Amino acid sequence: MNWTDVADLVIKGNNREVEHVLKNYPYIPAIAEDLRKKKLQVLEDLPRYIQETMKNVEKLGGHAYLARDADEARKIIGKIVSTKKTVVFSKSNVAYEIGLREFLQETGNDAWETDLGEYLVQLQNGWPAHIVAPAIDLTREDAATLVSRIDKNITKDSKIEDIVAAVRKFLMDKYIKADVGITGANAVAADSGSIALVENEGNIRIDSVLPQTHISVTGIDKIVPTLPDALNEIYVQSAYAGLFPPTYINITSGPSSTGDIELKRVSPATGPKDFHLVLIDNGRLNASRDEKIKEALLCIKCGRCYLACPVYRAIGKEWISTKSPYGGPTGVMWNYITNNDPWPASFCMHSGGCSEVCPMKIDIPTVIREIKSRGNRTLS
Ligand code: SF4
Repeated sequence: MNWTDVADLVIKGNNREVEHVLKNYPYIPAIAEDLRKKKLQVLEDLPRYIQETMKNVEKLGGHAYLARDADEARKIIGKIVSTKKTVVFSKSNVAYEIGLREFLQETGNDAWETDLGEYLVQLQNGWPAHIVAPAIDLTREDAATLVSRIDKNITKDSKIEDIVAAVRKFLMDKYIKADVGITGANAVAADSGSIALVENEGNIRIDSVLPQTHISVTGIDKIVPTLPDALNEIYVQSAYAGLFPPTYINITSGPSSTGDIELKRVSPATGPKDFHLVLIDNGRLNASRDEKIKEALLCIKCGRCYLACPVYRAIGKEWISTKSPYGGPTGVMWNYITNNDPWPASFCMHSGGCSEVCPMKIDIPTVIREIKSRGNRTLS
C-alpha cells in the first residue's frame, strides 16, 4: 500500500467515525464551542493561570515546574529521573518536541514508548506520521519487520494480532521494572492542579500508576480553568479523533493517597510516591501575546485538519521534516511556535478544508498566511 492509499483509507474511516459520533452524541459541538471560549479566557491571562495551576499541584503534594524551553525541560526531568532507570513513556507530543526519550537514553536510562504506534516509531527511529495515529504510514509487513527485532517468532507473514501480542509481552516486562512513568496531558485544570488523559490501549493508566514516580510533561497551552473544562477537552478531542467514547479517561491529582484512617489524607498509598508536572513554554507564551498567531494555541490535537488537507494527503509527514511530532496544517502552526520555523507554511495551498473540520474553529489558513508572510520577509 502506498501513502496515497493509506491516506484515503484513513480519511474515509475518520470521516465515517466522526459523523457517527456527532450523530449519536449531538451535545459534542456545543461542548466544543464552550471549550473554545474557556481556552481563549486562559490565553487572555496565561501567566496567572500558570501560577494558579502550579500552586494547586503543590497543594496536592505534587511538584510543579515551568520550563522556558526544551533544554530547561530536559534538565529538570533529567534531574528527577537521574540515570540507570527504566522509564516508560505514554504518547506525549511534548516529550517528542523536546527530544526527551533520546535525552534519557543518552543519559543511561532504558526508555520505551508504550503506545503501540509510538513504539513502532521508536523501533523505526522515525517520527510520527499523524498526531493521533503515529504509525499510520506503516503496513502490517512494515510493523512485522520492526517487531521481529524484539521477537524472533514474528515474521513478515505474522497476523496483526500476533504483532500486537508480541509488543504487549515485551512491554509487560518493562512496566514491571519501570521506575518512572512519563505521560503528557490532554488538559490541565488550573482550579485543582489535576491532569486529564485520554486513551484506548490502557498503557497510560499503567504508566501513570505502576511506576513509583509519575512525570507529566505538557505545554502551558493545555491549561483550562476548571476540572470540568479538562474533561470537556477530553470529550471533544476523542470525538473529533473518531474515538468516542474513549476506552479510558485518566485524571491524576497529585501522588497516590488514602484517607481511610480517621479521614486523614496520607500519601503515598499504592500508586506513585511522587508526581511532577513539568509545564513547558517553548514559544507558547510569546504566541499567546501575538494576536495573529495565538489562535493556534487553541488546538486540542485531534488530528482532523491533517485529513482535510491536500498537501498532507500528498506528502504526509515529510511536509515537516524536522522530526517534529506536529504535522499537517496544525503542524505548520506548531512548528513555527515551538521551532521558530516558518518554511513548512510555504507549501500551504490554502484550500481551507482544515478550518472547516476544526472543532476549535481555528482560522488555520489565516494563521498560516501570516507565518508564510513572516517567512518571506526574512528572505528580503
Ligand atoms: S488545528 Fe483543529 S483540527 Fe487540527 S488538530 Fe488542532 S483542533 Fe484538531
